[in-house]
Amino acid sequence: MKLFEIFSGGSGANYAPPAEGSGAGGEVKIHPALDHGIQAGSPDFSGGVLTCHCTSDPVKVMVSAQTAHNHACGCTKCWKPEGAIFSQVAVVDRNAVEVIENGSKLGIIDESAAIQRHACKECGVHMYGRIENKDHPFYGLDFIHTELSDDRGWSAPEFAAFVSSVIEGGVQPSRMDGIRARIRALGIEPYDALSPPLMDAIATHIAKSTGALPA
Ligand SMILES: [Zn+2]
Ligand SMILES: [Zn+2]
Repeated sequence: MKLFEIFSGGSGANYAPPAEGSGAGGEVKIHPALDHGIQAGSPDFSGGVLTCHCTSDPVKVMVSAQTAHNHACGCTKCWKPEGAIFSQVAVVDRNAVEVIENGSKLGIIDESAAIQRHACKECGVHMYGRIENKDHPFYGLDFIHTELSDDRGWSAPEFAAFVSSVIEGGVQPSRMDGIRARIRALGIEPYDALSPPLMDAIATHIAKSTGALPA
């Protein structure tokens, strides 16, 4: 299994390129939840409710655990709020994720993708991404956007992933130095794939499945 197959699969980016320009005052906008500094997570936090953007009958998803590996993601598949270059996405045990209201509004964006993103058909917000392939390195983890919750204390973003991929979403390559500098100024590291611990976990999973390492 190659990296591309792990995170992609299927076709068609469901993504409109962000507007050009670097934001007011020359400030580079990364994501609304990061642009004013990163808020620390709370060690006692045990979850909350995610709500889609519909003004009536919103989809609600209960997440009954703290998230891990929260990060900014520059890929073209993750849901992003209006005008953001990056998404903010974290993982959580799939058993801790439960649709509690208006689940009939949910549909899967791309059934063939490794991560099946369950989105509100009305407002377009992705409520959770689920992996159904039991051989996938991240099977058992759902991908969620903690900004959809009013609860405070979710694990803080730890890095930025797939930074170069924002170009695929329509960002001018000449802006990349400024974007990476802004990410570092926020106190997190920009990576063009995932963080080293996650890349090592994927490579270990593959090595054990091919026999290069003992299972
Ligand atoms: Zn909605
Ligand atoms: Zn992504």
